[in-house]
Parts: sequence; C-alpha cells; structure tokens
Amino acid sequence: MLERLAKERRARLAAERLLEQKKRELQAANQQLALHARALSEQIVEQRQGLARALSEAASLKGQNSQVLSDLEHATSLARIAQTRLWDALETVRDGFAVFDGDLRLVAANRAWLTFFEGEIALSQGVTYDAVLRIAAQHGLIDLDGRDPLDWHHEMTARIRRAQIEPCVVRLPSGRHLNLIDRWGSEGDLVCLTQDITASIRREAELQEARDRAEAANRAKSAFLANMSHEIRTPMNGVVGMADLLCETEMTEDQRLFAETIRSSGEALLTIINDVLDYSRIEAERMQLYPEPFDLERCLHEVMLLLQPAAREKGLKLLVDFDLFLPTRFIADPGRMRQVLTNLIGNAVKFTASGHVLARVVGIELADGTYELHVTVEDTGIGIAPEHVEHIFGQFNQVDSASNRKFEGTGLGLAITRQLIGMMGGSLWVDSVPGEGSCFGFRVPLTPAEPRDEIDRPSTPIRLKCAMVVDDLLINRVILERQLETYGLEVTLCRSAAEALDVIEGGATFDLVLTDHEMPGMTGLDLAQQLREGGIGVPILLLTSDPEAAQGAAGAAQGGGDLSGIMQKPILRSDLFRTLQALSCLPSEPGPEALPPDRTPEQRRQMRVLAAEDNRTNQLVFRKMVKDFDIALEFAWNGREAVEMWRSWCPDLIFMDISMPEMDGREAARAIRGAEAGSKLHVPIVALTAHAMTGDAESILAAGMDHYLTKPLKKSAIAEYIAEHCPPEARPPLPDERDD
Ligand code: ADP
Repeated sequence: MLERLAKERRARLAAERLLEQKKRELQAANQQLALHARALSEQIVEQRQGLARALSEAASLKGQNSQVLSDLEHATSLARIAQTRLWDALETVRDGFAVFDGDLRLVAANRAWLTFFEGEIALSQGVTYDAVLRIAAQHGLIDLDGRDPLDWHHEMTARIRRAQIEPCVVRLPSGRHLNLIDRWGSEGDLVCLTQDITASIRREAELQEARDRAEAANRAKSAFLANMSHEIRTPMNGVVGMADLLCETEMTEDQRLFAETIRSSGEALLTIINDVLDYSRIEAERMQLYPEPFDLERCLHEVMLLLQPAAREKGLKLLVDFDLFLPTRFIADPGRMRQVLTNLIGNAVKFTASGHVLARVVGIELADGTYELHVTVEDTGIGIAPEHVEHIFGQFNQVDSASNRKFEGTGLGLAITRQLIGMMGGSLWVDSVPGEGSCFGFRVPLTPAEPRDEIDRPSTPIRLKCAMVVDDLLINRVILERQLETYGLEVTLCRSAAEALDVIEGGATFDLVLTDHEMPGMTGLDLAQQLREGGIGVPILLLTSDPEAAQGAAGAAQGGGDLSGIMQKPILRSDLFRTLQALSCLPSEPGPEALPPDRTPEQRRQMRVLAAEDNRTNQLVFRKMVKDFDIALEFAWNGREAVEMWRSWCPDLIFMDISMPEMDGREAARAIRGAEAGSKLHVPIVALTAHAMTGDAESILAAGMDHYLTKPLKKSAIAEYIAEHCPPEARPPLPDERDD
C-alpha cells in the first residue's frame, strides 16, 4: 500500500511537474505570439505610411512633369524666336555670312553670301567649300589679275587649313573689294564672313592722294622757304657784313649804337630764318644727319665760350662737368649736336638772372662698345610751371607769363631740339621748379670715334705732384679736383683767397696753384700778387670767364708777371692737360720754328686768294673783311672766269660762291678737279653758300670742294681758312702772325 501510495505520489508529482512545464511552455508560446502580433501590426502601419507617401510623391511628380513639359515648350519657342532673329539679322547685314560643317559642307548661308554666285550657279546646302572656290575661280567671279585659277584655288584651300586663318582681300571683276574673314568654330564648323570694303579702299586711295598732294605742297613750301632764305641771306650778308665793318671804323657814340643795332638785328633775323628753315625741313622730312667723328667735349666748350659774353653780362657762371672716364670723340652730326647744345645752354643763360648754368655729360659703355650718353643742362633760372612743361616742346610755343614775356625767341628751338635728338635715336626731357631753376636733359646712343682722345696717350709726362685749387664755387672745385686727380695730382681745395693764404702760411707747399679770378673778398689776381710777395714761385694759373678783362687787370696791376697763364672757363680737359704738360717741362723749350730757313718773311711772296662772287656788294664786303691781311686778292665774276683765273694766276686758295651765272660754283670746282686729275695739284676750295638746305654739304663736297661757309660770312672764318691754307713759300697772311 505504501508502495502504491508512494507510486501514486510520485506519479502525481511527475504529472504536476509536467503540467508545470507545459504551462511554462504555453506562456512562452503566448509571449512569442504577442511579439509577432505586435511586429506584424507595426509592419502594417509602416507599409500604410509608405503607401501614403508614395501616393503623395506620385501626385507631386505628376505636377512636375507637366511643368517640365511646359518649360520645354517655352524654351523651344524661345530658341525658335532667337534663330529667326539671328537669321533676320544675318539677312539684314550687307556682309555675306555662311557656315560649313566639319566636313566643309555648306550648312547655311545668308542671301548676301548666296547672291555672290547668282546668275552663275545656284548653291544649295551640302555643297563643299572646295566646290565653292572652284566655281568662283572658274566662272570668273574673282578678278585673278592674270593668275592661274588653279593656283588661286590651291592657295585658298591651303589658307583655310590653318588653325588661325588670316583675312584676305579679293577683287571682283566689277571693281568691288571683298574682305574674307574665316574662323573655325568650337564645334569644328567653319564660319565665313564676306565684307564689302570697296568704300573704305576708295577712301584710303583718296586719302593717299590727298596726302601725296599735301606732301607735294609741303615740299614746295620747303623749297620756297629755302629759296626765300637764300634771297634773304644774300642781302643780309651785305647788311651784317657792312655793319660789322662799320663797327670797326671811327664813329660817334650814336653812330656806333646805330651800327651795332643794325648788326645785332641782322644776326637776330638770321637766327630766326635758320630756325624757320630747320623746322620746315624737319616737317618735310628733309632734315638729314651727317655723322662724322668729332670732339664732343670741345664742341660743348665752344658753345660755352660762344655764350660766355651773354653769361658774363649777368654775372652767371658757366660750368662744364664732362665725365672723366668717357672718351671725348664720338661719331655724330657735329653741326646738329652743336645746335642742340646751343639751344639748351642758350635757353639756360637766357632764362637765368643769377647763379650758374652747368652742363654735365655722363655715360655708360654698352656691351656693343657704343656709349649711352646723358647730357644735362642745369640752371638756377626762372623755371617752368608743371602745366607748361609739355607745351614748350611744341612749335612756336613759349611760356606765356609775365616773367617770360620779356624774353625774345621764336619758340622753335626746343621743338627742333627734340626732333633732332629723336633723329639721333635719343630723347629729351625737362625737370623744373618754378623760381628755382630747370634741368633739361637728353639721352643719346653714340659710337666712340677712333683714335681716342690724346689725353689717354700722354706724350709728355706730367711731373707736377700737388696742386692747390682756389674757387668760391663748390661745383668748380669738385670738377677741377677730379680733373687734376686723374692726371695724378694731389689736390687741396680752398674756398677763398684768404683760406689759401692761411693754408700756405700753415706750411703747405704745392707745385701749382689754380685760382679763380672773380671771388668775393680777394680776387685771384690779388692772391697771385700776395703769393709772389710772400716768395712763392710755383706756377699760378688764373681761371676766368673773361680772359681779356683779367689780362687788362693784370697789366694794369703790374701783376701779369705773377701769373704763369690765364685760362678761360669752362676749361677744356685737353687744354688743361696741355698746360700741365707745358708747366711740367718749364723752363719752356723754344717754340717751333715758323720760317723756312732759306728766306726771311719779307723775301717771301704774298699768298694768292681768288674769290669767285657775282654780287658786287658781296665782293665789297669780302674785300673789306680781308683788307688787313697780307694777301693778293682777285675776284672772278662767275665760275668760268674762276676756272680761267685758276689756270692763269695759280691761286693758293679759292673762295667759290655756289650760285653764279654762266657756270655755277659746283661746275667750276668739278672743272678744276678734272684738270688737276693725275697731277699732284690740289687747290683748296671753300664753297660760299647762302642756300643752307639739307644735302647741300653733300653735293658741295661731291663737287670736289674742301670746305664750305654759309653766308653771311664771318671775318674770323675767312681768316681761319686763309691761315690754314697759306703755303710755306708765302708770307704769313694774318696781321697778328706777322707781328710775332
Ligand atoms: P625760344 O627760346 O626761342 O622762346 P624754345 O623752344 O627754345 O624757344 O623755348 C620755348 C620756351 O620754353 C621758352 O620761350 C621758355 O618759355 C621755355 N624755356 C626753355 N628753356 C627754359 C629754361 N632753361 N628756363 C625756363 N624756361 C625755359
């Protein structure tokens, strides 16, 4: 029983346990089921939402689609309108227009382009560019000017093969001109434009004709001016020459004033004529440069010396600073270079009341051996207001202000100067401060001339070791110091005579003293006298802008013996060099013997001078100019007579007028040179010309003449040639030479 009971209990317990387990399993299954059910319902909700979204998106897409469709329609209609407008425009322009595709087949062309072929052939879409060219050539649509149509066709097809097609002009048999402009488009199309340029070509031809006519008129004007200048110069020669001679005679003060006014007015008139003539030559492009070797430094000094009297009158100092490391000889047109320098320095003197005018030349040597020179002319004058600076370079332009009105001038100088410098390959500029001064400068490329200056090849050594320079002006002291230092001298600078005396009293010794003359406090002459009195025996050079006055003062003060020399400022480097050489070999060696050993001057004959001149007044002027000279003078009335007299009288020198009746100067010179040919004879001939046109010098020299002088003649120039060509067997012709 117990056992059964136990069994039953165990069975019951097992059943209970099973029941418990099944309950748990059921619970778990229930939970699982609940989870599934929830997930399912969530999925259903999500899908419903997705469906709703999809439905609303579909609705909006439908709206968009219809918008796109309407936009497309609109765009298509705009494109159609644009195309129509474009074609309307292309049909309206008178130029021909065509487009070819990448295979060079015609896509489209406007009527203007197509009408070109009208009457010959009807072009249609698809026709090739090549065929178009062939049709144009073969149907005589182009005036080929005798060329082979095939050649032209080849040339034109080769032309469009280039990436960048050059425009070309073709002429039609009707005389019309078409400009063909072709360009490759970005899509490989060839766009062709044909412009009718007949009107502009005709206009160009008319302009050319007008220009030719104007140039001819200009040439005529220039020739007229040249002739006028000749006509004016000839009588002016009489006026200026006679006034010159008159000034040398005894006169009352009034008469002298009148005569000098005639002379200076005549000279002023000649300057104006020359300016006008030069300008007209430049305008007519007939101005030419004649480059030749010349000494630029000497040229600059000569200009300075010429302007010295005007500067001295106002107490202006003229200074030159020529870069010591530059050669002095260059190749350029010396006459024109002198003209440029004269204009700039002349203006500087004219427009400066006090102070100084400094001309400075510096330069650099370029790789090819030429020099780039910078020449500046600086003054301490009235200056130029900035608004007038460009104006003054124009022709006939002057600064119109109260301060300027009192100055004379044509207003052509700077215009001519700028053009001349331009012709030399340079440029001109100005810097100026009103009331303080101006600095005109120009730059020119110049080739140095061989041989270089003799300074580079010293013959006599300079033995002087130390020099004292006395000058109140700093620029002068600096320039002299640099010049002397290049010759190996040690230089002591003093600002005044008093300072110089102090230095010497302090025990300093020198081999040479260079002193300015006009200095505040004590003059150079007084300084020289005091040094001599103090027992200083070294050479003393007096530097002055007015050597004659200094000479006079030296004579009057009995101080001439104190000086070893007087030099005119500005001093030429080569002159200073020669003076230093001369002072190095003191006591001086006897000068070169002037006379041939066999005869005294009295035993020698007169020099024979022939002047060929057809104008009686000019003959008279010439005779008066040489009246003091010891020469035999004869006149010939024309070229033929000159040649005859050359044969019969054997002159030592001939002055030959260029324009003479019967036989002119050039012909006569050619005849003489022809007769001399083959012999050792060569009579020097100096041409006299009033005709200062470009090319004259060339034709004069080509005719065999050696020199030429422009009228009005200057006594000094005539004297120079007479002295230069006096043969050794003749007496010295000039009065001062005879006095020696
Ligand atoms: P001109 O001297 O005959 O009047 P230019 O052509 O040489 O003619 O000069 C034109 C003008 O330029 C002068 O009239 C003057 O007004 C001005 N000018 C030229 N050089 C100077 C200078 N150094 N200082 C001041 N003004 C000057």
